[in-house]
Amino acid sequence: MGSTLFEKVWDAHTVRRLPNGQTQLFIGLHLIHEVTTPQAFDMLRARGAGVAFPDRTIGTVDHIVPTKDQRRPFLDVMAEDMLAALERNCREHGIRLLDLSSGLQGIVHVIGPELGLTQPGMTIACGDSHTSTHGAFGAIAFGIGTSQVRDVLASQCLSMDPLKVRRILVRGTLQRGVYAKDVILEIIRRLGVNGGVGYAYEYAGDTIARMSMDERMTICNMSIEGGARAGYVNPDETTFTYLRGRRFAPQGDAFERARAWWGSMASDAGAAYDDEVVLDAAAIQPTVTWGINPGQSVAVDEPLPAGADREALDFMGFVPGQRMKGTKIDVAFVGSCTNGRLSDLREAARVIRGHHVAPHVKALVVPGSQGVRLAAEGEGLDRVFAEAGFEWRGAGCSMCLAMNPDRLEGREICASSSNRNFKGRQGSPTGRTLLMSPAMVAAAAIAGEVVDVREFTRAEASLGR
Ligand code: SF4
Repeated sequence: MGSTLFEKVWDAHTVRRLPNGQTQLFIGLHLIHEVTTPQAFDMLRARGAGVAFPDRTIGTVDHIVPTKDQRRPFLDVMAEDMLAALERNCREHGIRLLDLSSGLQGIVHVIGPELGLTQPGMTIACGDSHTSTHGAFGAIAFGIGTSQVRDVLASQCLSMDPLKVRRILVRGTLQRGVYAKDVILEIIRRLGVNGGVGYAYEYAGDTIARMSMDERMTICNMSIEGGARAGYVNPDETTFTYLRGRRFAPQGDAFERARAWWGSMASDAGAAYDDEVVLDAAAIQPTVTWGINPGQSVAVDEPLPAGADREALDFMGFVPGQRMKGTKIDVAFVGSCTNGRLSDLREAARVIRGHHVAPHVKALVVPGSQGVRLAAEGEGLDRVFAEAGFEWRGAGCSMCLAMNPDRLEGREICASSSNRNFKGRQGSPTGRTLLMSPAMVAAAAIAGEVVDVREFTRAEASLGR
């Protein structure tokens, strides 16, 4: 019987089995940022410990950076202090920091892949829930807490409970106007926000195999929203082609050697899974969340279920039977580590070209990294967005978490390409988030309300645009 990628990566990185049943795993790459590290470095200092593998640790700044005016010192004193602490800690421990002046800064889960730091067969850890994103490359990537950040800094190891593996097979062709975001929202709706507890999700099937790396990252990014500890896609030619020539990827002969090893880490044909789920891609519709967790979603023109959660309905101000289509929005946000990559911006720009944002809507586009921003500007996307009335911003997490000046106010409703719709997530305790694909966000910004992007672009086609 063969093995899954998860088993192969786990075994290859096992240092030892611990008496409590956990496994001590070696971590190949530790990504750090300004929010979850100040305390971890303080704890390290208090114990007189150093960083075990500074060359396996890379820092960037994302959550707290303002996206409008990025001059130092930041106007927000706390944000400035957090960045200054990260700079100090990286300097003191010899850790490479990809800061605002590097040209390589961005959301940690965007820059890892785009710089070729994220590679198949690796173990990756980061003090951020959405570290599962890196699984798109066939890495096993864990989001960790501050005390675990300390442990990885000190030892490059993590103590982990073993996971079961659920294979999620997505088969068939997605309809026009249906994206990777809709696929993962449907998976979470189907399996529940706690359905993945104790599991790693392996995404497979011909639909996933045809997806670009950006799309696979969108899927893996939200594994954590379905309760899974990690999510991954087996590495294939799409993965290798993406990595070739990236700044930190192996080069020349080393790339060929790495590629052979990467390929060997994919799940074997005869591998056994603890569970398997099959989804029909053709049945997936453009999807929008209506509630306060990412599992509370419906197809854009589907009525909210009769038994919908009362707390969520009351918070959102919605009623059973209502459709999300036609819901007026106040803010539109394209960005985040789920959907702030170049292909996401291209798709949103394609939808808005020749239109203008509705007068009552504030619309932001926030590239996931300086690299994405530069590439988008090279294609003229910044002008497309600006002409349509979107604000074109600097790279960062922006309104995904609102630990920076980009925030909702009062009861505003935001059409958002991010990954969490928890109460207060976007800065206002009463603000409301509707998660959807970037194309759907773009269409909502123009219409001023939630629309079905398929109808929006069909109307376009009939006008000959
Ligand atoms: S974009 Fe959002 S989810 Fe992603 S790292 Fe930033 S705050 Fe976290």
